[in-house]
Amino acid sequence: MSAPLLSVENLSVDFHLKRGWLARSLTLSAVRGVSFAIEPGRTFGLVGESGSGKSTIGRAILRLAEPSAGRILFDGADIAAGGRRTPLAYRRDVQVVFQDPLSSLNPRQSVGTTIAQAIRRHRRSSGAALEKEIAGVLDSVGLATWQAKRHPHELSGGQRQRVAIARALAVRPRLIVCDEPVSALDVSTQSQVINLLVDLQRERGLSYLFIAHNLDVVRHISHSIGVLYLGRLVEVGPAARVYGAPAHPYTRMLLASTLVADPRVQAERSRARRTLPRSEPPSPLAPPPGCAFHTRCAWADETCRGGAPAFCARGGDRLVACHRLEEIERCAH
Ligand code: SF4
Repeated sequence: MSAPLLSVENLSVDFHLKRGWLARSLTLSAVRGVSFAIEPGRTFGLVGESGSGKSTIGRAILRLAEPSAGRILFDGADIAAGGRRTPLAYRRDVQVVFQDPLSSLNPRQSVGTTIAQAIRRHRRSSGAALEKEIAGVLDSVGLATWQAKRHPHELSGGQRQRVAIARALAVRPRLIVCDEPVSALDVSTQSQVINLLVDLQRERGLSYLFIAHNLDVVRHISHSIGVLYLGRLVEVGPAARVYGAPAHPYTRMLLASTLVADPRVQAERSRARRTLPRSEPPSPLAPPPGCAFHTRCAWADETCRGGAPAFCARGGDRLVACHRLEEIERCAH
């Protein structure tokens, strides 16, 4: 295993909010003590429901949210070491693809202008050389050169997301934060965009942080998966193991709530769904004490309410935070 390109170490992010006419001050702990690493050419899938803190982690890596504790290392160097100013090289090396390209692309700019701007922000290029670069990057995402003249509203949702990927690729990044990049697309377009990202990774050795709320979506692209609940990681491990044999009750719940085409698998998941609580997650402003999942967990007991579980290793490379894991595993077999 090579040295990580990105290491997130004990990251916490708090937001200080004012609420009500008395302007009462509240602290929202969006992310608490999160650690993971991404090696060159690999994908880390971060999955969890809305409000779990996954996009906040992406924003902290992009330096759009300030960590309240912990470190983010890129190529071994602390990205916050230079203060609030982000080095130009880091802004080039780490790019983002957001969920909704319609709001992340300028509606008044043609595709070609959008990509040209991204290129010129990081290196000199003009005239025929710039046009050749734009044509090359469009080709690499499966778009024709003539589509450089199009505006976002003239493209389909999948084509717009290809443009957003092309814009990220144009500056030759090493890591792309993909924040729910396929959530707004229909199922067949989702798989085309994911296959494109996989091909680009293979060709260019890119690393991805792939954020999604659906475990099925992250499985196809991720080498490792982290499952996030109310700001904390509850399970981390190789994608095949987390998906194939989920250990934490929350990971099981996420998996049971996804829909699949295979009727046999779908029937199994429907059976599992019937045994699961249907409640919504608690507010991140008032997370339950102890294991934060205890208000929704069928296995919860006094131990769970009394203290947060620490990670324990399961088969070397998998970590699971649950007090009653051994009993749950015994019952599953
Ligand atoms: Fe459920 Fe307890 Fe495990 Fe939390 S620690 S997931 S409440 S069994």
